[in-house]
Amino acid sequence: MEQSYAIPYPKVGSVLGEQEIHVLTQVVNSADNLSAGRWREEFERRFREHLGVPHALSVTSGTVALEIAIRLLDLDVGDEVIATPQTYRASVQPLLNYPAKVRFCDVEPGSLNIDPAKIESLITSRTRAIILVHYGGMPCDMDAIMAIARRHGITVIEDCAHALGSEYRGRRPGALADIGCFSFHSSKNITTLGEGGMITLFDRALAERVDRIRSNEADAVYHEKVRAIGERTSAHPWMLHPGYAFTHGCATIRYGGTNATLAEPNAAVGSVQLAKLDSHVRRRAEIAAAYTEVLQRFPEVRTQQGPELIRHGHHLFTFFVDPAGGILRDRLVSRLDALGVQMQLRYFPLHLLAEWRARGHDVGECPVAERMWFEQQVNLPCHPGMTDQQVDQLVFWLDTVLREEVRSVPIAAGTARKVKG
Ligand SMILES: *Cc1c(COP(=O)(O)O)cnc(C)c1O
Repeated sequence: MEQSYAIPYPKVGSVLGEQEIHVLTQVVNSADNLSAGRWREEFERRFREHLGVPHALSVTSGTVALEIAIRLLDLDVGDEVIATPQTYRASVQPLLNYPAKVRFCDVEPGSLNIDPAKIESLITSRTRAIILVHYGGMPCDMDAIMAIARRHGITVIEDCAHALGSEYRGRRPGALADIGCFSFHSSKNITTLGEGGMITLFDRALAERVDRIRSNEADAVYHEKVRAIGERTSAHPWMLHPGYAFTHGCATIRYGGTNATLAEPNAAVGSVQLAKLDSHVRRRAEIAAAYTEVLQRFPEVRTQQGPELIRHGHHLFTFFVDPAGGILRDRLVSRLDALGVQMQLRYFPLHLLAEWRARGHDVGECPVAERMWFEQQVNLPCHPGMTDQQVDQLVFWLDTVLREEVRSVPIAAGTARKVKG
């Protein structure tokens, strides 16, 4: 049986309420087509405006967004993609479908984001793309990354699954590179009723490809339309409809399409959630500030650091302990978990997963990511569904446990109290 926690790890990252129920009632009562229509168009329009990008195409999940984004690279035998190892497996897993080589680039110890200083040495004449993640909502150092990418003519895919609500120097993730991929899974900063995703682009031709792929048309180089059924005057009127009477002469099929469009109820909830994003991120920031206040008292601990002039989206709250300072990460995590804070660490370095080891990746490839994961990083629950009481309780436990764990700090008298009510 699953243990019950005073402070569970968020399975739900974004709270649903009356407004979502109201819009769902409208959708259900409308008797409209639930597979495609105005709600999706509305959500995509709002998303484009939020980010300031010309194209935003919704899909059924963040994973599908990444699959399609990677599909757009048209990877060939021997091509290479540089990717961060510190992310959820879906960021890179679609690459298993291609004969391309992945070069995992180590992360910065402060942010856990891909380290721009280490990208250039991994670039070869075959490098086609960089896949990065704004870890936990902390934006990557995009000016540095884009300068390298532009110099070498490399496409940059931003996995923005954590970064809705984040900002980088006045712009938003998903509008900082070539292709942005978002997830609206339950655990993310907004949700489209459990599953959903978005692809954002600047390039119109690529946006058209995405639209075909997601709506069951072949991803192909299309040439001029030709008459399919000739001049048969006896043809039934529906056969003379342009969609049937004419067809494209396709030259090169790159890929068969699929059905991956976001349904109307999900899209309708997406618009409501997007309107709440800012207040939800502010609540996340408030919780993060409460944790940071405690952590700053301990020199053996540091919080996540990133580039200047950013807004953190606080999808994950991350800090790092220094084993040399006497704090053992595993002990700290076990003690908080035993007190009632459900602890989860995100993410096991991808290059050490079976699927990538099978492709020759191994220990030592990204030493910083490995050291941080195995010895230093800690994530705490941080989401707008947390009550003040839960936050206070966690702050108290964190302070108590850290005091006891740090050798140099006198052990506090108090023991943990229970959440009341
Ligand atoms: C959640 C997540 C995904 C996948 O999104 P789904 O909508 O769950 O398919 C991809 N990358 C990162 C970094 C994620 O956190």
